[in-house]
Amino acid sequence: MKTTISVIKADVGSLAGHHIVPAPLLEIAEDNLKKAAEEGVINSYKVFHAGDDLELLMVHNRGERSEEIHALAWKTFLAATEKAKELKLYGAGQDLLKTAFSGNVRGMGPGVAELEIEERGSDPIVVFAADKTSPGAFNYPLFRIFADPMNTAGLVIDAAMLDGFKFEVLDSKLNKRVVLQCPEEMYKLIGLIGTVNRYCVSRIWRVADNRVCAVTSTTKLSQLAGKYIGKDDPVAVVRAQHGLPAVGEILAPFLHTYFVEGWMRGSHWGPLMPVSLKDSRCTAFDGPPRMVALGIQVCNGRIASDKDGVPLIADLFDDPAFDFARREAVEMAIVFRRMGEFQPARLSEESMEYTTLPEILKTLKDRFKS
Ligand SMILES: [Mg+2]
Repeated sequence: MKTTISVIKADVGSLAGHHIVPAPLLEIAEDNLKKAAEEGVINSYKVFHAGDDLELLMVHNRGERSEEIHALAWKTFLAATEKAKELKLYGAGQDLLKTAFSGNVRGMGPGVAELEIEERGSDPIVVFAADKTSPGAFNYPLFRIFADPMNTAGLVIDAAMLDGFKFEVLDSKLNKRVVLQCPEEMYKLIGLIGTVNRYCVSRIWRVADNRVCAVTSTTKLSQLAGKYIGKDDPVAVVRAQHGLPAVGEILAPFLHTYFVEGWMRGSHWGPLMPVSLKDSRCTAFDGPPRMVALGIQVCNGRIASDKDGVPLIADLFDDPAFDFARREAVEMAIVFRRMGEFQPARLSEESMEYTTLPEILKTLKDRFKS
């Protein structure tokens, strides 16, 4: 029996600007997924939010790109949008770019990360969800986790990992993919994925047996819509342990902050802050960009649950071990904000293409004299 972990997310409206998904929207999602679980469409689920993004974690047996699962997510986002409009929340329905559902939410606005697995004796999974950043934000930690022996001890001392991992990289400009194998092609991989605004790691397999280990969402809303309509706050699903990186190795890259694109108006470099679910809300300059990490155990097609069927969720960044990274993120945030709109605080000209800045600059077009 194969089990699929689907994380589908969208920003369909937020309380007080771009801060959080308020309770009434979470309740609608909860009701929808509860009903779907009762009807047997999904086996178990967890509704949560990463800042202003409504996140649907669903575990089922319908495989990746299942029309039923995608329709369920789409219907849930539409219902939440209705409520957001009723409450006049900010950005109601902003990520829903199309009106008619056509079998798959990919290309319609929501972000999707799905992983179909053959369950092992025990299958720990880490689900990451970020706000105020973009899919390239996973390049750096995924490289550290699956290719850097200075981060992941298992690459050196676990025989199952000695052959390394294969990275699928999406060129979001040309919409083409390439697969590179590490450690053999590590330098080429870094050459590509160091350019985080164009290339992003979309999938990772273990070389020894092609076991799929990680997947990310790679939606580029600006390229879908042709204009800036909010950042493509990404999600990722990563498998752990038993011949794969340990959960602790998966979390180790977050002991320090690192810089990602996004933050205010999706137009700035910002330090990523790993946070618990309770701190999953962007404030200062709409940030700093934040990431939550949920640990689950997949168990016979479901999320391992308590006696009442409530899924057991480990809020992995709810730990003083990440206080240093959070402190670093705040310090770096202050340094960058002191620079205002001067690069490198603001993104490159190319990255600003989809924002409203070109409209402003257009007003100067005729005033340039040679
Ligand atoms: Mg967001």
